[in-house]
Amino acid sequence: MSETPLAREIKDLIRQEGPIDVARYMTLALGHPRHGYYITRDPLGAAGDFTTAPEISQMFGEIIGLWAAHRWMILGSPARINLLELGPGRGTLMADALRAIGKVVPAFAEAIALHLVETSPVLREAQAKTLENSLGGRRPTWHDDIASLPEGPSIIIANEFFDALPVHQLVHQGGRWHERLVGLVDDELAFGLAPEPVPANQAPPLSDGALDGTIVEYPEAGSQVMAALSARLGRFGGAALIIDYGHLEFGVGDTLQAMAGHAFVDPLTRPGEADLTTHVCFETLARIAADRHLAIDILTTQAYFLNELGIRPMAANLSRHATPEQAEAIAKALERLTDDAPRAMGSLFKVLAVSAPGTERS
Ligand code: SAH
Repeated sequence: MSETPLAREIKDLIRQEGPIDVARYMTLALGHPRHGYYITRDPLGAAGDFTTAPEISQMFGEIIGLWAAHRWMILGSPARINLLELGPGRGTLMADALRAIGKVVPAFAEAIALHLVETSPVLREAQAKTLENSLGGRRPTWHDDIASLPEGPSIIIANEFFDALPVHQLVHQGGRWHERLVGLVDDELAFGLAPEPVPANQAPPLSDGALDGTIVEYPEAGSQVMAALSARLGRFGGAALIIDYGHLEFGVGDTLQAMAGHAFVDPLTRPGEADLTTHVCFETLARIAADRHLAIDILTTQAYFLNELGIRPMAANLSRHATPEQAEAIAKALERLTDDAPRAMGSLFKVLAVSAPGTERS
């Protein structure tokens, strides 16, 4: 297979400046202004590289819409509220959420100012189209990053957003931790280690007993986003719902993975043409929120969350008005979203909901 244009650029960069850390590699692979994976394509769905929960069933977005409506009521049903989504993909989750909100709590729909954080021009276009008829024609506002989001109480949603943010990897070697790097071996991209260990104050708190080769991930960008969202919620009020592939408790291990055409590929072979993600550490995100005095309302698996919020009666209700084929599709989707077998979506995906003090669930 010929190398990707981005692989050529990254190799040139390494020849000029030396090896780059994993976070920089991920940043380039996903967000390079010309060749970045998310910049150049719509990666979702059967024809793309991976499928997300909202693309599996409308029930996913509808449940999230109901969660948001409940949060709005807890806030005292304000006449104006920011609804923020980070990384909205095709806009499917939001369209389904807004449809459910419009049906069940129309006053909330009226109150919403919709803000979407999205870097991909291709996906922004898809979102505009999907959301064309939501909110009575009121248009969303797009943002490149969270810095420009408006002030005021907010309800924040992020599904499969944090897993796309770059992480640093540290490797234990001879009693010290070294940054994992991407360099060149025989002119091909290859992993290596920084010769100097990281300063002791940046080492993970597990040096005792860590075996050589142990890898720990440090989600610098995700931590910054979580800290900024927490600060915003603390200041203006509101709540956030974060759903992603990941683990509830901090653990060691290399979780960097690449997907193309619904199959795993080597993370270094097709930069810009494969999706790169890592598992999200929910303990880290929850601690950041708790350190800023937010309440942790939900920290559980996707299966538990969806069941708790009533996906089963919702599916039964949908099936009553469906053809036998549609009913079968609904049952399949329900099973896929809530299956909590060890490698199934319902257990691999986790959910964290946090809220500002004073507005937590009573
Ligand atoms: N939430 C959607 C899409 C998940 S894919 C769904 O569940 O279907 C990841 C999304 O995050 C895409 O919309 C992608 O373009 C966006 N994204 C990735 N990195 C981003 C970044 N650094 N800033 C803003 N958006 C980003």
